[in-house]
Amino acid sequence: MIPVEEALEIVLREAPALPAEEVALEDALGRVLAEDVHSDADMPPFDRAAMDGYAVRATDVATAPAVLDVIGEVPAGTWPELEVGPGEAVRIMTGAPVPTGATAVQQVERTRAADEFRVTILESVAHGAHVAPRGSEVGAGDLVLERGRRVDPATVAVLASVGRARVRVARRPVVALLVTGDEIVEVAAVPGPGQIRNSNGPAVAAQALQAGAEVRLLGVAGDDLVALRSALEGGRGADVLLVSGGVSAGDYDLVEPALEELGFSFLFTKVAVKPGAPLVFGKRGTTLAFGLPGNPVSAQVTFELFVRAALLRMQGVGGVSPPRVEVELLGPLKNRSGRKAHVPARVRFEAGRLVAHPVRSMGSGDLVAHAKANALVALDAERTQAEAGEAAEALLLGRFLEDDGAPI
Ligand code: AMP
Ligand code: MG
Repeated sequence: MIPVEEALEIVLREAPALPAEEVALEDALGRVLAEDVHSDADMPPFDRAAMDGYAVRATDVATAPAVLDVIGEVPAGTWPELEVGPGEAVRIMTGAPVPTGATAVQQVERTRAADEFRVTILESVAHGAHVAPRGSEVGAGDLVLERGRRVDPATVAVLASVGRARVRVARRPVVALLVTGDEIVEVAAVPGPGQIRNSNGPAVAAQALQAGAEVRLLGVAGDDLVALRSALEGGRGADVLLVSGGVSAGDYDLVEPALEELGFSFLFTKVAVKPGAPLVFGKRGTTLAFGLPGNPVSAQVTFELFVRAALLRMQGVGGVSPPRVEVELLGPLKNRSGRKAHVPARVRFEAGRLVAHPVRSMGSGDLVAHAKANALVALDAERTQAEAGEAAEALLLGRFLEDDGAPI
């Protein structure tokens, strides 16, 4: 058994970088930038009014109220040819270029029309008020997005504003997923005696999709070496072979020999992690293979810790592990496993600090308890007991962002 940190290091070291491809901006969401993006222009591209009101010379309204001659109007999308001289003002709209001579904009609410051609500025304005100067946000040629960044809506906005209708992103890793177990039946089936539904296949496929992969389903194979091998052969061409089940010490756990017959060599087969000790990681050329434990929570947690990291690294993402925060435990936790434990919890901001409510779980088969958690509290192997009130490290899961605040 190797420690979690060492296993992660091996996985990251072995994960091959994927080539880049070009996609349209509307297809870029969730993809990872394979290039640094620079601005093609100053932002704002001109001195821009931030309010509807009047462009003025701040010195003219140093004593307010002040009456100014209105010499024209600048709607957004036009270019002002006029110049604001002493004692003059120009009616201006949000987003419009501030005309030469003007040094500030006074918002319309702080003005009153004096007559058809004159305005009373009711309050003075500071030099530069409500004007966003050209290039004050970003200069032409400045780096605005770095490669390795996952495209989210805010990234889409930046790409759009610098004219990137197409962008280079990492190719999506192709994951071939095989579910194993004689007892496994499809989701739509009613399980017979001794049978259970395939929950790992859909769950792990969903995790892979969220990590940016393209998923090929290889179906369900029984615990039989020939069946496993021929099913795994269907994964040829994939970047990652993912197998659920069949990696523990039972007589029917044949995933390792099947992968071996296909030419994979193993970098580790057991990790000191709970849930999930049996975890097989192998490689053949640039193809990675993960044998995940069949227990539903073990499969999901080991995916989150190792497979997701590999998929993100292959796409060039820097931060490959779930975000970590320090939490105050609201209940006692035990870890007698001798491995690094990941205990389901709900983390929330309460009374000025992040707290972790332990979720009652029956163990690594309890996928319903796992679905209630939005975080995993990590307890090192040596930390056999943690009491309420103590601090601990929590790994935040995606659901953390969707906490509805309902009572726990
Ligand atoms: P294994 O790792 O194959 O020994 O399986 C460990 C446990 O996980 C057993 O209770 C299996 O029935 C269960 N299991 C294995 N594969 C799946 C699956 N695809 N969906 C749900 N449970 C599974
Ligand atoms: Mg099995």
